[in-house]
Amino acid sequence: MGSTRHQRLTGLALAALLLGGLACHPPRNPMAEWLPSPNHNARRPQLIVIHHTAEKSFDISLKVLQTQNSGGPVSSHYLIGRDGRLAQLVSDDHRAYHAGGGTWGPYRDLNSLSIGIELDNTGFEPFADAQIDRLLLLLEDITKRFNIPRTQVVAHADVDPIRKQDPSGFFPWQRLADKGFGLWPDPVLADPPPAFDGWAVLRLIGYSLKDPAATLRAFHLHYHHTETTDLDEQDRKILFNLQTKVLAEGRAKSN
Ligand SMILES: [Zn+2]
Repeated sequence: MGSTRHQRLTGLALAALLLGGLACHPPRNPMAEWLPSPNHNARRPQLIVIHHTAEKSFDISLKVLQTQNSGGPVSSHYLIGRDGRLAQLVSDDHRAYHAGGGTWGPYRDLNSLSIGIELDNTGFEPFADAQIDRLLLLLEDITKRFNIPRTQVVAHADVDPIRKQDPSGFFPWQRLADKGFGLWPDPVLADPPPAFDGWAVLRLIGYSLKDPAATLRAFHLHYHHTETTDLDEQDRKILFNLQTKVLAEGRAKSN
């Protein structure tokens, strides 16, 4: 009996070891021979999407992000509290359900291509300094680790203007821009030429023009807090300036 039990335990330990060992391997397709090549690295995200939770506390936000909201299961990769508490809910390697349905320039399926960061905030209050301080550290970390251009930090409303309006107009994009994050205009803006097409630049930046009014609302939420129903002079100046930055970045990428 003793010997049989010992053999059984040894067998179990061996099985656990084998399973553990197998778990370390990346998933392989059993229908193919595994003839590995060293010429690869991990797939990586291209974009960082900022949200606000529209909840009253970190704990309530966490509960929603670990279960679901009225629209179904939802989660970002990270959640940052008002006091700067930083939690990771989903591995950077996995798709978190935070930007489904959004698009940005050529990018579709943003859940596959982006890292989502939720900031605990009702949407009707300023963002706490400690929270933004922590966000800046996290952006530094993510952009470096995945080699994401620092300008590729966008609002949920930017990528899904018809359905979303977060983060709110309280979000301090200027503080991000001071560290080089996000696409942000210079303090002094030149006048664009008369033939300048601001809508074409919105598309160049990445905005969808499927619903121009919604896109304009998202652009105003991010860059210029006004409610005009068409691009005004300030919008056109901002877009003229952003166009230069986007084109310069495109040139830098192709070098
Ligand atoms: Zn959102």
